[in-house]
Amino acid sequence: RLHNQLVDLKGAIRVFCRVRPLLPDEVAASQKVATECDTLAGAVELVGGRVGGMAKGGGLSGKEKRLRFNFDAVYGGNSRQDAIFEDTAPVVTSVLDGYNVCIFAYGQTGSGKTYTIEGPEGDRGVNYRTLTALFEQVEHRRAEVEYTITVSLLEVYMDTICDLLVVDESAPRPKLEVKNGAYGSYMPGLTEAKVESAAAAWALLRSGTEARHSAQTKMNEHSSRSHCMLCVRVRGQSKLTGDVWRAKLWLVDLAGSERVGKTEASGERLKEAQFINKSLSALGDCIHALATKSAHVPFRNSKLTYVLQDSLSGDSKTLMFVNANPTEENAAETACSLHFAARVR
Ligand code: ADP
Ligand code: MG
Repeated sequence: RLHNQLVDLKGAIRVFCRVRPLLPDEVAASQKVATECDTLAGAVELVGGRVGGMAKGGGLSGKEKRLRFNFDAVYGGNSRQDAIFEDTAPVVTSVLDGYNVCIFAYGQTGSGKTYTIEGPEGDRGVNYRTLTALFEQVEHRRAEVEYTITVSLLEVYMDTICDLLVVDESAPRPKLEVKNGAYGSYMPGLTEAKVESAAAAWALLRSGTEARHSAQTKMNEHSSRSHCMLCVRVRGQSKLTGDVWRAKLWLVDLAGSERVGKTEASGERLKEAQFINKSLSALGDCIHALATKSAHVPFRNSKLTYVLQDSLSGDSKTLMFVNANPTEENAAETACSLHFAARVR
Protein backbone atom coordinates (compact mmCIF):
# COMPACT_ATOMS: atom_id res chain seq x y z
CA ARG A 1 0.00 0.00 0.00
CA LEU A 2 2.59 2.49 1.13
CA HIS A 3 5.02 1.13 -1.48
CA ASN A 4 2.81 1.86 -4.45
CA GLN A 5 2.12 5.30 -3.13
CA LEU A 6 5.85 5.98 -2.91
CA VAL A 7 6.69 4.62 -6.32
CA ASP A 8 4.04 6.80 -7.93
CA LEU A 9 5.03 10.02 -6.23
CA LYS A 10 7.69 11.40 -8.54
CA GLY A 11 9.26 14.64 -7.50
CA ALA A 12 7.42 14.64 -4.19
CA ILE A 13 8.93 15.04 -0.78
CA ARG A 14 8.30 12.45 1.85
CA VAL A 15 8.87 12.71 5.58
CA PHE A 16 9.13 9.65 7.81
CA CYS A 17 9.26 10.17 11.56
CA ARG A 18 11.07 7.66 13.75
CA VAL A 19 10.89 7.87 17.52
CA ARG A 20 13.58 5.80 19.17
CA PRO A 21 12.89 3.69 22.27
CA LEU A 22 14.01 4.71 25.75
CA LEU A 23 17.59 3.56 26.24
CA PRO A 24 18.49 1.31 29.18
CA ASP A 25 20.04 4.13 31.20
CA GLU A 26 16.98 6.30 30.57
CA VAL A 27 14.76 3.49 31.84
CA ALA A 28 17.04 3.11 34.86
CA ALA A 29 16.73 6.84 35.53
CA SER A 30 12.92 6.57 35.28
CA GLN A 31 12.77 9.10 32.48
CA LYS A 32 9.26 9.97 31.36
CA VAL A 33 8.13 9.63 27.77
CA ALA A 34 6.56 12.60 26.00
CA THR A 35 5.81 11.02 22.61
CA GLU A 36 2.82 9.00 21.45
CA CYS A 37 2.99 7.36 18.05
CA ASP A 38 -0.08 6.58 16.01
CA THR A 39 1.54 4.47 13.34
CA LEU A 40 -1.69 3.69 11.51
CA ALA A 41 -2.68 7.33 11.20
CA GLY A 42 0.90 8.42 10.46
CA ALA A 43 0.83 10.84 13.37
CA VAL A 44 2.94 11.56 16.41
CA GLU A 45 1.85 13.53 19.45
CA LEU A 46 3.94 15.33 21.99
CA VAL A 47 2.37 15.46 25.39
CA GLY A 48 3.31 17.33 28.53
CA GLY A 49 4.15 20.55 30.25
CA ARG A 50 7.48 20.98 28.54
CA VAL A 51 6.14 20.92 25.02
CA GLY A 52 7.14 24.12 23.30
CA GLY A 53 9.45 24.97 26.19
CA MET A 54 6.46 25.90 28.37
CA ALA A 55 7.55 24.67 31.77
CA LYS A 56 11.30 25.04 31.72
CA GLY A 57 12.68 22.68 34.34
CA GLY A 58 9.21 22.05 35.69
CA GLY A 59 8.28 18.56 34.51
CA LEU A 60 4.61 17.88 33.96
CA SER A 61 3.39 20.25 36.62
CA GLY A 62 2.47 22.91 34.06
CA LYS A 63 -0.68 22.85 31.98
CA GLU A 64 -0.77 19.72 29.86
CA LYS A 65 -0.37 20.44 26.22
CA ARG A 66 -0.63 18.25 23.14
CA LEU A 67 0.96 18.83 19.80
CA ARG A 68 0.05 16.60 16.87
CA PHE A 69 2.13 16.16 13.72
CA ASN A 70 1.29 14.21 10.59
CA PHE A 71 3.88 12.57 8.39
CA ASP A 72 3.97 10.12 5.50
CA ALA A 73 4.91 7.43 7.99
CA VAL A 74 5.57 7.24 11.72
CA TYR A 75 7.65 4.55 13.39
CA GLY A 76 7.58 3.97 17.13
CA GLY A 77 10.15 2.67 19.60
CA ASN A 78 9.88 -0.97 18.58
CA SER A 79 10.10 -0.39 14.83
CA ARG A 80 12.66 -2.57 13.12
CA GLN A 81 15.41 -1.70 10.70
CA ASP A 82 14.04 -4.06 8.05
CA ALA A 83 10.54 -2.56 8.28
CA ILE A 84 11.96 0.93 7.82
CA PHE A 85 13.94 -0.23 4.84
CA GLU A 86 10.94 -1.92 3.29
CA ASP A 87 9.29 1.51 3.00
CA THR A 88 12.52 3.17 1.86
CA ALA A 89 13.55 0.59 -0.75
CA PRO A 90 11.26 1.81 -3.58
CA VAL A 91 12.76 5.28 -3.27
CA VAL A 92 16.39 4.19 -3.21
CA THR A 93 16.15 1.63 -5.99
CA SER A 94 14.57 4.21 -8.30
CA VAL A 95 18.12 5.58 -8.75
CA LEU A 96 18.66 2.59 -11.06
CA ASP A 97 15.88 3.94 -13.31
CA GLY A 98 17.58 7.32 -13.51
CA TYR A 99 15.97 9.26 -10.66
CA ASN A 100 18.13 11.35 -8.38
CA VAL A 101 17.41 10.52 -4.76
CA CYS A 102 18.22 12.31 -1.50
CA ILE A 103 17.71 10.74 1.88
CA PHE A 104 18.32 12.69 5.08
CA ALA A 105 18.29 11.93 8.77
CA TYR A 106 17.39 15.05 10.73
CA GLY A 107 17.17 15.42 14.50
CA GLN A 108 18.97 16.40 17.66
CA THR A 109 22.08 14.52 18.77
CA GLY A 110 21.10 11.22 20.36
CA SER A 111 17.78 10.92 18.52
CA GLY A 112 18.80 7.93 16.37
CA LYS A 113 20.02 9.40 13.07
CA THR A 114 23.16 7.28 12.84
CA TYR A 115 21.24 4.24 14.06
CA THR A 116 18.77 4.71 11.21
CA ILE A 117 21.33 5.47 8.50
CA GLU A 118 24.30 3.32 9.55
CA GLY A 119 22.89 1.03 12.21
CA PRO A 120 24.80 -1.16 14.61
CA GLU A 121 26.81 -4.17 13.47
CA GLY A 122 24.36 -7.04 12.99
CA ASP A 123 21.35 -4.77 12.52
CA ARG A 124 22.35 -2.48 9.73
CA GLY A 125 20.57 0.66 8.68
CA VAL A 126 19.48 2.25 5.44
CA ASN A 127 22.87 2.71 3.77
CA TYR A 128 24.00 -0.91 4.04
CA ARG A 129 20.58 -2.23 3.04
CA THR A 130 20.49 0.20 0.13
CA LEU A 131 23.79 -1.05 -1.27
CA THR A 132 22.62 -4.65 -0.91
CA ALA A 133 19.30 -3.89 -2.63
CA LEU A 134 20.99 -1.99 -5.46
CA PHE A 135 23.41 -4.77 -6.31
CA GLU A 136 20.60 -7.33 -6.11
CA GLN A 137 18.68 -5.32 -8.70
CA VAL A 138 21.80 -4.86 -10.84
CA GLU A 139 22.24 -8.63 -10.87
CA HIS A 140 18.56 -9.06 -11.69
CA ARG A 141 18.71 -6.73 -14.67
CA ARG A 142 22.06 -7.95 -15.96
CA ALA A 143 20.55 -9.22 -19.21
CA GLU A 144 19.02 -5.84 -20.13
CA VAL A 145 21.17 -3.18 -18.52
CA GLU A 146 24.84 -2.67 -17.91
CA TYR A 147 25.37 -0.70 -14.70
CA THR A 148 28.43 1.07 -13.41
CA ILE A 149 28.29 2.08 -9.76
CA THR A 150 30.66 4.34 -7.87
CA VAL A 151 30.62 5.55 -4.28
CA SER A 152 31.93 8.67 -2.58
CA LEU A 153 31.96 9.53 1.09
CA LEU A 154 32.39 13.01 2.41
CA GLU A 155 31.94 15.15 5.43
CA VAL A 156 30.85 18.75 5.69
CA TYR A 157 32.17 20.45 8.79
CA MET A 158 31.93 24.23 9.30
CA ASP A 159 31.26 24.57 5.55
CA THR A 160 34.45 22.71 4.71
CA ILE A 161 34.08 19.57 2.61
CA CYS A 162 36.41 16.63 3.24
CA ASP A 163 36.86 13.50 1.14
CA LEU A 164 36.62 10.58 3.56
CA LEU A 165 37.84 8.04 1.02
CA VAL A 166 41.29 9.62 0.94
CA VAL A 167 42.87 7.65 3.72
CA ASP A 168 46.36 8.99 4.08
CA GLU A 169 46.99 9.55 7.75
CA SER A 170 50.20 11.45 7.13
CA ALA A 171 48.72 14.17 4.95
CA PRO A 172 45.97 16.65 5.75
CA ARG A 173 42.74 15.72 4.06
CA PRO A 174 42.20 17.61 0.83
CA LYS A 175 39.41 20.17 1.01
CA LEU A 176 36.92 20.06 -1.80
CA GLU A 177 35.26 22.89 -3.73
CA VAL A 178 31.86 22.71 -5.38
CA LYS A 179 31.58 23.69 -9.05
CA ASN A 180 28.70 23.82 -11.45
CA GLY A 181 29.05 21.77 -14.65
CA ALA A 182 27.11 20.17 -17.47
CA TYR A 183 25.90 17.31 -15.24
CA GLY A 184 25.07 19.60 -12.33
CA SER A 185 27.19 20.33 -9.30
CA TYR A 186 30.42 18.42 -8.86
CA MET A 187 33.56 18.50 -6.74
CA PRO A 188 36.84 18.32 -8.65
CA GLY A 189 39.14 15.74 -7.07
CA LEU A 190 36.42 13.89 -5.15
CA THR A 191 37.13 10.15 -4.96
CA GLU A 192 34.56 8.17 -6.90
CA ALA A 193 35.40 4.55 -6.26
CA LYS A 194 34.02 2.00 -8.68
CA VAL A 195 32.45 -0.91 -6.81
CA GLU A 196 31.31 -4.28 -8.15
CA SER A 197 29.44 -5.60 -5.13
CA ALA A 198 27.70 -4.49 -1.96
CA ALA A 199 30.45 -6.12 0.09
CA ALA A 200 33.16 -4.18 -1.73
CA ALA A 201 31.26 -0.93 -1.33
CA TRP A 202 30.69 -1.58 2.33
CA ALA A 203 34.35 -2.43 3.00
CA LEU A 204 35.34 0.85 1.40
CA LEU A 205 32.85 2.89 3.37
CA ARG A 206 33.94 1.24 6.57
CA SER A 207 37.54 2.20 6.01
CA GLY A 208 36.37 5.75 5.35
CA THR A 209 34.27 5.97 8.49
CA GLU A 210 36.95 4.33 10.60
CA ALA A 211 39.54 6.80 9.39
CA ARG A 212 37.16 9.56 10.33
CA HIS A 213 36.64 8.08 13.78
CA SER A 214 40.30 7.51 14.58
CA ALA A 215 41.26 10.96 13.38
CA GLN A 216 38.94 12.43 15.98
CA THR A 217 39.52 11.81 19.64
CA LYS A 218 36.05 12.93 20.55
CA MET A 219 34.41 11.04 17.72
CA ASN A 220 30.82 11.37 18.84
CA GLU A 221 31.08 15.06 19.48
CA HIS A 222 32.68 15.68 16.12
CA SER A 223 30.30 13.46 14.16
CA SER A 224 27.33 15.18 15.75
CA ARG A 225 28.57 18.52 14.41
CA SER A 226 29.25 17.50 10.85
CA HIS A 227 27.12 16.21 8.00
CA CYS A 228 28.22 12.79 6.77
CA MET A 229 27.28 12.21 3.14
CA LEU A 230 27.37 9.04 1.10
CA CYS A 231 26.89 9.37 -2.64
CA VAL A 232 26.12 6.42 -4.89
CA ARG A 233 26.43 7.28 -8.56
CA VAL A 234 24.78 5.10 -11.15
CA ARG A 235 25.38 4.90 -14.88
CA GLY A 236 23.03 2.64 -16.74
CA GLN A 237 23.19 1.56 -20.34
CA SER A 238 20.44 -0.38 -22.03
CA LYS A 239 21.78 -3.44 -23.84
CA LEU A 240 18.80 -3.21 -26.18
CA THR A 241 18.82 0.42 -27.28
CA GLY A 242 22.24 1.62 -26.14
CA ASP A 243 20.58 4.46 -24.20
CA VAL A 244 22.63 5.82 -21.33
CA TRP A 245 21.34 7.42 -18.14
CA ARG A 246 22.99 8.72 -15.00
CA ALA A 247 21.66 9.36 -11.52
CA LYS A 248 22.87 10.00 -7.99
CA LEU A 249 21.68 8.81 -4.63
CA TRP A 250 22.66 10.77 -1.52
CA LEU A 251 22.34 9.38 1.98
CA VAL A 252 22.97 12.09 4.54
CA ASP A 253 23.42 11.76 8.30
CA LEU A 254 22.96 15.41 9.24
CA ALA A 255 24.64 17.28 12.08
CA GLY A 256 22.63 17.48 15.30
CA SER A 257 19.81 20.00 15.05
CA GLU A 258 19.82 21.05 18.72
CA ARG A 259 19.80 24.77 19.35
CA VAL A 260 22.86 25.98 21.17
CA GLY A 261 22.26 29.05 23.28
CA LYS A 262 24.72 31.91 23.15
CA THR A 263 25.19 31.57 26.89
CA GLU A 264 26.31 27.94 26.61
CA ALA A 265 28.65 28.37 23.70
CA SER A 266 31.46 30.63 22.76
CA GLY A 267 34.43 30.59 20.39
CA GLU A 268 34.70 27.50 18.15
CA ARG A 269 31.64 25.88 19.64
CA LEU A 270 29.49 28.88 18.83
CA LYS A 271 30.90 29.09 15.31
CA GLU A 272 30.17 25.39 14.76
CA ALA A 273 26.62 25.89 15.98
CA GLN A 274 26.13 28.83 13.63
CA PHE A 275 27.33 26.80 10.64
CA ILE A 276 25.00 23.94 11.57
CA ASN A 277 21.99 26.20 12.06
CA LYS A 278 22.71 27.97 8.81
CA SER A 279 23.07 24.78 6.77
CA LEU A 280 20.05 23.06 8.30
CA SER A 281 17.80 26.04 7.79
CA ALA A 282 19.14 26.37 4.23
CA LEU A 283 18.18 22.73 3.68
CA GLY A 284 14.71 23.31 5.12
CA ASP A 285 14.26 26.42 2.97
CA CYS A 286 15.29 24.59 -0.21
CA ILE A 287 13.09 21.55 0.36
CA HIS A 288 10.18 23.82 1.28
CA ALA A 289 10.73 25.94 -1.85
CA LEU A 290 10.81 22.78 -3.99
CA ALA A 291 7.72 21.31 -2.31
CA THR A 292 5.76 24.51 -2.89
CA LYS A 293 7.15 24.91 -6.44
CA SER A 294 8.62 28.28 -5.58
CA ALA A 295 10.41 30.05 -8.44
CA HIS A 296 13.54 30.64 -6.38
CA VAL A 297 15.29 27.86 -4.48
CA PRO A 298 18.14 29.23 -2.37
CA PHE A 299 20.65 26.41 -3.01
CA ARG A 300 23.63 28.71 -2.68
CA ASN A 301 22.96 29.57 0.95
CA SER A 302 25.13 26.71 2.23
CA LYS A 303 27.67 24.14 1.02
CA LEU A 304 25.30 21.35 1.98
CA THR A 305 22.52 22.54 -0.33
CA TYR A 306 24.94 23.59 -3.06
CA VAL A 307 26.37 20.06 -3.20
CA LEU A 308 22.86 18.60 -3.37
CA GLN A 309 21.43 21.18 -5.80
CA ASP A 310 20.84 18.97 -8.84
CA SER A 311 19.92 15.94 -6.73
CA LEU A 312 17.08 17.82 -5.07
CA SER A 313 15.56 19.53 -8.10
CA GLY A 314 13.76 18.24 -11.18
CA ASP A 315 11.91 14.97 -10.73
CA SER A 316 14.21 13.77 -7.99
CA LYS A 317 12.90 11.99 -4.92
CA THR A 318 13.53 13.26 -1.43
CA LEU A 319 12.95 11.42 1.79
CA MET A 320 13.59 12.95 5.16
CA PHE A 321 13.74 10.92 8.32
CA VAL A 322 13.02 13.07 11.31
CA ASN A 323 14.45 11.24 14.29
CA ALA A 324 13.05 11.94 17.72
CA ASN A 325 14.14 11.39 21.29
CA PRO A 326 11.10 10.20 23.26
CA THR A 327 11.96 11.67 26.66
CA GLU A 328 10.02 14.41 28.33
CA GLU A 329 13.30 16.09 29.16
CA ASN A 330 13.90 16.57 25.41
CA ALA A 331 10.31 17.41 24.45
CA ALA A 332 11.00 21.05 23.59
CA GLU A 333 13.84 20.03 21.26
CA THR A 334 11.69 17.26 19.76
CA ALA A 335 8.96 19.82 19.11
CA CYS A 336 11.49 21.93 17.17
CA SER A 337 12.51 18.93 15.05
CA LEU A 338 8.92 17.93 14.30
CA HIS A 339 7.98 21.52 13.42
CA PHE A 340 10.95 21.68 11.07
CA ALA A 341 10.01 18.41 9.38
CA ALA A 342 6.32 19.30 9.14
CA ARG A 343 7.25 22.58 7.48
CA VAL A 344 9.43 21.21 4.69
CA ARG A 345 6.58 19.50 2.87
P1 ADP B 1 22.34 10.44 16.63
O1 ADP B 1 23.12 9.89 15.48
O2 ADP B 1 21.07 11.11 16.24
O3 ADP B 1 23.18 11.31 17.52
P2 ADP B 1 22.37 7.71 17.54
O4 ADP B 1 21.93 7.02 16.30
O5 ADP B 1 23.82 7.67 17.85
O6 ADP B 1 21.86 9.21 17.55
O7 ADP B 1 21.49 7.12 18.73
C1 ADP B 1 21.70 7.48 20.09
C2 ADP B 1 21.63 6.22 20.94
O8 ADP B 1 20.34 5.61 20.84
C3 ADP B 1 22.62 5.16 20.52
O9 ADP B 1 23.07 4.49 21.67
C4 ADP B 1 21.79 4.22 19.66
O10 ADP B 1 22.29 2.90 19.66
C5 ADP B 1 20.43 4.28 20.34
N1 ADP B 1 19.32 4.11 19.40
C6 ADP B 1 18.94 5.00 18.46
N2 ADP B 1 17.88 4.56 17.76
C7 ADP B 1 17.58 3.36 18.26
C8 ADP B 1 16.57 2.37 17.96
N3 ADP B 1 15.68 2.57 17.01
N4 ADP B 1 16.55 1.23 18.70
C9 ADP B 1 17.46 1.03 19.67
N5 ADP B 1 18.43 1.92 20.01
C10 ADP B 1 18.50 3.06 19.32
MG1 MG C 1 25.06 10.36 14.91
